[in-house]
Amino acid sequence: MDAEPSFLLAIDQGTTSTRAILFDTSLRPLASHALEVLQIYPADGWVEHDPEEIWQAVIACCRVAAKGVSPAEIAAIGLANQRETTVLWERSTGKALHNAIVWQDRRTTDVCRILKENGHEPLVTARTGLVIDPYFSATKLRWLLDHVPDARRRADELAFGTIDSWLIFRLTGGHVHATDVTNASRTMLLDLRTLDWCDELLALFDVPRVVLPEVRDSAGDFGNATEDLLGARIPICGVAGDQQAAMFGQACFAPGDVKATYGTGCFALVNTGTAVPASRNRLLATAAYRARGTTAYAIEGSIFVAGSVVQWLRDGLGMIGSASEIEELVRRARGCEGLYFVPAFTGLGAPYWDPEARGAIVGLTRDAGAPEIARAALDAVCFQTRDLLAAMNADMKLAGFGQPEILKVEGGMVRNDAFCQRLADLTGLPVARPTLTETTALGAASLAGLGAGLFRDFADVASTWSLDRRFEPKLACQTRDALYEGWRDAVKRVRSRGN
Ligand code: ADP
Repeated sequence: MDAEPSFLLAIDQGTTSTRAILFDTSLRPLASHALEVLQIYPADGWVEHDPEEIWQAVIACCRVAAKGVSPAEIAAIGLANQRETTVLWERSTGKALHNAIVWQDRRTTDVCRILKENGHEPLVTARTGLVIDPYFSATKLRWLLDHVPDARRRADELAFGTIDSWLIFRLTGGHVHATDVTNASRTMLLDLRTLDWCDELLALFDVPRVVLPEVRDSAGDFGNATEDLLGARIPICGVAGDQQAAMFGQACFAPGDVKATYGTGCFALVNTGTAVPASRNRLLATAAYRARGTTAYAIEGSIFVAGSVVQWLRDGLGMIGSASEIEELVRRARGCEGLYFVPAFTGLGAPYWDPEARGAIVGLTRDAGAPEIARAALDAVCFQTRDLLAAMNADMKLAGFGQPEILKVEGGMVRNDAFCQRLADLTGLPVARPTLTETTALGAASLAGLGAGLFRDFADVASTWSLDRRFEPKLACQTRDALYEGWRDAVKRVRSRGN
């Protein structure tokens, strides 16, 4: 007799690591395994990954995470992945024709600048919700088609995909060439309104339709992982880009629900409901998920430097020996009014979009020492969150929605209680930290469970979310606003000319 399907296997293929987590059908994690991703830097500003290495790591992680259970008991696989990273491969052999071009890669900066100078940005933004930037897949794919010998001529023999499509193709033995709406919405080729590829944009970016994957729901049928891989045929039933997966894992299902991830950088997404949003405040519009006949959209803002400012205090200044030592250091900080740290190491992200800005510590006095500078560094992450929330609130208001009531958080920095408290104090929003902070994998598992029919509906998924701790804002409103004014002044001082 076949065993009852009792497990969900989530793959989280990130920029720095690949992991697999085995969940039970109540979404409790049981086992996991992770491997690092090799970073390849062929030239200044270029970042690549080896698609073959990523594939091998995915299978290795899945095998270790699932080794304690019978493969026949795994109901479904869910996949969350680094977004925008671009792969081109041969359909017949499944072999990649070039290293993957990673989202951080800036090699197509000039192409993007020319497209902008020629006035194409309004069309791109209207269709895709994005701004023209090397970050997204379209110009990376064009680069591959132009630089891999014969690629354009052989286009009908080739397949393009973001990492999700690449892994689905390999998992299904080449049977399925598909992506989900969230990953597709980061390519700069998808029309957000129809959630299908847009001919005008394909022409603009010189991309032949024949290489593109089929766009599917985030929860549904992506074919079966072949039996030779994990010991049984296992259906792939959930797929989403990492930030959207995390949003799903945080059960942000209602308009106004907002989550922020504090890893190396910070990504905040707010659910904007079923109507296509447009940001008037320099944030991005994107697909949040399509599942069970419901499409949800989101507005997204990102901060380049979050946890990496802590790494800089450790590696650049040697102030701390490990990231967690910042907690003890900041506890010793004295009041140091007017001290601000703007960590614009590589420019400022949303909502400033100032790539030429550079960091500064302003307002130094004799009283300022390591603890005070460390606190200012953590405060900067909180103030930047407030910048994003303010822009999101303005967009939500225009769309007729109310303000978010709570900020759901995750990522390496939120282990730090004092940081979470300060985040509540400086944004004025209660901060909620879930019990399970691996929300990306959790989102992939949730989508897979929904796609496999293990969960009845979104409420069923939401009921598995549980609170670890809630941090209430304690600062008086006036104090909070005065501190924020100081931050705005400090930012003005680091902006590049012309911005
Ligand atoms: P990523 O997924 O981007 O690799 P993680 O979610 O693993 O990142 O978070 C790692 C980041 O969290 C690091 O940049 C690190 O500096 C920061 N971090 C880790 N522990 C703490 C802490 N106790 N306080 C503040 N920041 C921390």
